[in-house]
Amino acid sequence: MRDLSAGPRVLLRRLRELMAEPLDPQERLDRIVRQIASNMVAEVCSVYVLRSDGVLELYATEGLNPEAVHLSQLKMGQGLVGTIAASAQSLNLSDAQAHPAFRYLPETGEEIYHSFLGVPILRAGRTLGVLVVQNKASRTYREDEVEALETTAMVIAEMIATGELKKITKPGLELDLTRAITIAGDGYNEGIGLGHVVLHEPRVVVTNLLNEDAESEVRRLAEALGSLRISIDDMLSRRDVATEGEHREVLETFRMFAHDQGWVRRMEEVIHNGLTAEAAVEKVQSDTKARMMRLTDPYLRERMHDFDDLANRLLRQLTGYSGRAMGEGLPTDAIIFARAMGAAELLDYPRDHLRGLVLEDGAVTSHVVIVARAMGIPVVGQAAGAVALAENGDTVIIDGDDGQLHLRPMADLVKAYEEKVRLRARRQEQFRALRDVEPLTKDGKRISLMMNAGLMVDLPQLAESGADGIGLFRTELQFMIASTMPKLEEQEAFYRNVIRQAAGRPVTFRALDIGGDKVVSYFRNHEEENPALGWRAIRLSLDRPGLLRTQLRALLRASADSELKMMLPMVTEVAEIHAVRELLQKEVQHLSKFGHSLPRRLQFGAMLEVPALMWQLDELMAEVDFVSVGSNDLFQFSMAADRGNARVSDRFDMLGKPFLRILRDIVRAAERNQTALTLCGEMAGKPLSAMALLGIGFRAVSMAPTSIGPVKAMLLSLNVDELAQELHAALDDKRSQEPIRTLLTRFAEEHGIAV
Ligand code: PEP
Ligand code: MG
Repeated sequence: MRDLSAGPRVLLRRLRELMAEPLDPQERLDRIVRQIASNMVAEVCSVYVLRSDGVLELYATEGLNPEAVHLSQLKMGQGLVGTIAASAQSLNLSDAQAHPAFRYLPETGEEIYHSFLGVPILRAGRTLGVLVVQNKASRTYREDEVEALETTAMVIAEMIATGELKKITKPGLELDLTRAITIAGDGYNEGIGLGHVVLHEPRVVVTNLLNEDAESEVRRLAEALGSLRISIDDMLSRRDVATEGEHREVLETFRMFAHDQGWVRRMEEVIHNGLTAEAAVEKVQSDTKARMMRLTDPYLRERMHDFDDLANRLLRQLTGYSGRAMGEGLPTDAIIFARAMGAAELLDYPRDHLRGLVLEDGAVTSHVVIVARAMGIPVVGQAAGAVALAENGDTVIIDGDDGQLHLRPMADLVKAYEEKVRLRARRQEQFRALRDVEPLTKDGKRISLMMNAGLMVDLPQLAESGADGIGLFRTELQFMIASTMPKLEEQEAFYRNVIRQAAGRPVTFRALDIGGDKVVSYFRNHEEENPALGWRAIRLSLDRPGLLRTQLRALLRASADSELKMMLPMVTEVAEIHAVRELLQKEVQHLSKFGHSLPRRLQFGAMLEVPALMWQLDELMAEVDFVSVGSNDLFQFSMAADRGNARVSDRFDMLGKPFLRILRDIVRAAERNQTALTLCGEMAGKPLSAMALLGIGFRAVSMAPTSIGPVKAMLLSLNVDELAQELHAALDDKRSQEPIRTLLTRFAEEHGIAV
């Protein structure tokens, strides 16, 4: 194995000293290039820094004409320097002028130098600049010299990343790293947030670059790799990781990388060149990422994410860094950036510090988004590349209305958004003023407006929003945030607390709806090919009657001497309702036998989420006191479009004829059977959709608390009978091509309805 000769080691050490000295940035950079030149016995050493306009500007030089500093410029891809920046790869040339990309810059006086070695200055795979050494004599630089220069570039990357060079950047210009970027995604929850980036999985910052003893660093690396491999094997051998499926594929990729000899050898080489184990991991990660970022194959790019995740795990092993960003020091205006995230992870952040959520993946009805909506924070999903482009602490604006992100925004944009925020606040004020206004339509129909909830933190919103009650209490959220299965007493105490805080307003508890995308970590179920169609919700509860009976008992006990309103999720056959009723009966008997008080009244309902129930509506309604349509799931199953997959879920319109006709059939069946009916999916929270629901006959809807104000404003200005006439006619019309959404928008406009 090659060993870094003493010279470069001395250089790295000297550079570290220079970084620590109290120098002004230009002076520091000048000394750095001087040091490199002398150490590498090069006549020239220059640093080019990438600006936000895509230009590489000469920031310091030893050997070239000093007048050229801050004057000499090359575009990305132009000349040797631009080629290195664009490809993120080093160039080692014994005759630079002979290279096809060579471009002569007269102001620098570089024509006399034949040999050229240039390396990219990289950080997390992004090019920040280029570092060059040149010699008059024609020579090829040795491999260890290339390595040494690349390592030196890491030190300069750190200097650029700290923002130090801002002070010597010409006014009006910016460095690429701090460039303002707008990312277009999808607005998953409306609202505007101004704040600072918090990376959900923060990058480990390696500060300890240079090793004292290469052999002990190689050993540290081997140990960390060993534990990493064991943890991957453990994950793979767990019984819940099935033989197929995406999760397994990712783990297999992890294992492949973790055993990849090429990767390990590269890191060991870098350690022998003077770096610590963690600096070696970072360097090789950055080089690899820089190469992979230039790939267009989506499969390989996905593998790059996997590799990146794995390298981050290794870095955490080596540095003992385990902290998520939510601990101390979380900014009070945090905008969380994640590739993907579970609902429980979001709940770990203190609500009053959150100003927004940015996801690279996700979909509008995925669980984490529902939780974010309940918390009232703006969400932008499908924000491609957001995590790689953002740095912890960057300023950012999240615009959930337009589905955009503005990273490191310019001052005038911030101003414009501050104005927008003020306007929104004024609108919120107007909604708040509606809080105690009775939700009566213009033609006098009383609409029941309820809110969805699932956690204690949601409860204060009941009074604040003026909702009539809780139309959907997602009991699984308590299970999702717990690290072990909540016991009977814990469940009972929780439900009791909810009922107490609801202060007399009705609460509809939904029996556990786990499975599908609602993952409960301690509840091991088998990986399924199609979890949404799998063993979930009531199916799972009926197969695990102990679980269901505990919940039923807790609900009964918590509602002693008051009313218990509960419903079942994902019912497919009426027989399932009978089965639960039987268990409920047993629990009632059990409690009375032991002298417990029982609820004064019990209302038992079912959610309508599975299309098969459409052909059992009369039987269903004969069995239950009320039906609640879960439009998120009913839509996903009716359209055969995964609610968590934006590519397909946004393809079909909830306000299209098929879905509205389905919903209308349900309304008609409820009228026929005189069964109370409500709808509690996300659809109810959008004023235009809520208007359509009232138009086809719904009189009770349940939604995120922040939607109550806008929906109430809509209905106060709506004449339902007028809309119903037009809407029914359009739904009955088999020839008209006009989308119902267009009709609804036009109706709202013509009648001055606030949607
Ligand atoms: C629904 O499916 O519409 C619903 C309200 O339930 P969840 O979103 O919790 O699946
Ligand atoms: Mg559902």
